[in-house]
Amino acid sequence: MIRKRIIAGNWKMNLTRVQALALAGQLAEISVSGDKEVRLYPPFLYLNEINKLVQRNESLSIGAQNCHHEEKGAFTGEISAEMLRSMHIRHVLVGHSERRMYFKETNEQLLAKLKLALNNDIQPVFCCGEPLEHREAGTHPHFIENQLSRALFLLDPKTVGQCVIAYEPIWAIGTGVTASKEQAQEMHAFIRSLVDQKFGTTIAENIQILYGGSVKPDNAADLFAMPDVDGGLVGGASLSAEQFIAIIHA
Ligand code: PEP
Repeated sequence: MIRKRIIAGNWKMNLTRVQALALAGQLAEISVSGDKEVRLYPPFLYLNEINKLVQRNESLSIGAQNCHHEEKGAFTGEISAEMLRSMHIRHVLVGHSERRMYFKETNEQLLAKLKLALNNDIQPVFCCGEPLEHREAGTHPHFIENQLSRALFLLDPKTVGQCVIAYEPIWAIGTGVTASKEQAQEMHAFIRSLVDQKFGTTIAENIQILYGGSVKPDNAADLFAMPDVDGGLVGGASLSAEQFIAIIHA
């Protein structure tokens, strides 16, 4: 089974409009081999303009960093999956650790987001990852299994194969400390084995599992060479065209 690689840039709450358009403009020019796909996750406000900018490059697409867990209604300031679909947005991040931590998103809400995204033909990238205490205590596999079984694994088996998983150990996000390639491979293989047990081998072999946590130009090639690492979700380094392009080509 050949799984297409995904290199995704999560811009978080960074960049002014001018900066964002300049970065997207540089990335729109890149040429990427057919076995890879590049995704950008800009702030909501810029999605429409950036979508138009990158449309000419078939290897590039745009996603949203979040969507609300309710379909519609009186949720001032929020953005729904249906709104994203109406703007031709094709992917959404669900359950990024910053959303879980700072916005107290629960497993129930994440499951609702997954379902709403899928119902709107938007591919969720479901993020999981353990805090440092669990890594140090050796309970990280259990922690990840718990995160998966309380949200992603509650999806209908017919739709779970349409999702992407991102493994992002919290101790590696924005810290400059990356999981070693062996640590990443071990957890990706573990996650794939859980998908296998729950949904069967075909889905397990096809599902893409991205690594996130201080991916940089100098560690990307090693991480991406691991058999169960199908690309990366990149935060800080995706804000520099030079660094992100180096990661794409790693
Ligand atoms: C992220 O937040 O998804 C991420 C991986 O960030 P960074 O690359 O900055 O660690």
